Amino acid sequence: MLDTQTTPTHWFPSNIDALNRRFTAAGPQALLRWVTTKLGDDVALSTGFGLSGIVLMHMLSDIRPWTPIFYLDTDLHFAETHALRDELQGRLGITIQEVHCGLSLDDQGKRFGPKLWQSEPGLCCHLRKVEPLKRYLANKRGWITGIRRDQGATRAHAPVVSWDEGNQVVKFAPLAHWTREQTLTYIHTHHLPLNQLHAEGYASIGCWPCTAKTAAGGNERSGRWAGREKTECGIHVAARGYQ
Ligand code: SF4
Repeated sequence: MLDTQTTPTHWFPSNIDALNRRFTAAGPQALLRWVTTKLGDDVALSTGFGLSGIVLMHMLSDIRPWTPIFYLDTDLHFAETHALRDELQGRLGITIQEVHCGLSLDDQGKRFGPKLWQSEPGLCCHLRKVEPLKRYLANKRGWITGIRRDQGATRAHAPVVSWDEGNQVVKFAPLAHWTREQTLTYIHTHHLPLNQLHAEGYASIGCWPCTAKTAAGGNERSGRWAGREKTECGIHVAARGYQ
């Protein structure tokens, strides 16, 4: 019996460590089935259209295709990413909601100067990703994300189930313990589409101003904010200022 405490706005499983162990062993489909049954539309899948997101969207399309799925639309995604979004919606019979910060690039430029992604990328991510996510999750009790431990040092200890202090919801990472090879095998086995940019040398794809081709020998995310100390946009980092 899984013990939980529920309030109108928060849901905190008191046995979060047990859930972690259980769903690390049981696998991603078991976790998706359990959490979507338990929370219904109060849990949502966030995707940036990377490999793990494609796997999770496909699994959800089989388990509960009407589960809320969203992406953070920064106005700075590649055209190829939008093409993949449209193809996934058509192929999987899912609706992927766009969550926007409400600040146009023009207005951002007037308030903070042009090309904020160059002058202060931490603030740009905060405005266009971190805050919109927080506002969206204010109406949820949990969110599902595709992060994996093998994506880089900042994700090396990502739990499968955890409490997201910054957003005050439970965070589920069903593929935290999967490898990049496992996600690719799943994608190929199920004949799922990929972002065309992967074939052009981009291992991880975010906003176009902050995404470069992956250097030889670099980890999956080494092309993101290349040449800077920044390695995360901030949505997977506990709230302690910008990164
Ligand atoms: S990834 Fe770059 S362009 Fe996108 S929100 Fe962050 S700083 Fe801005």
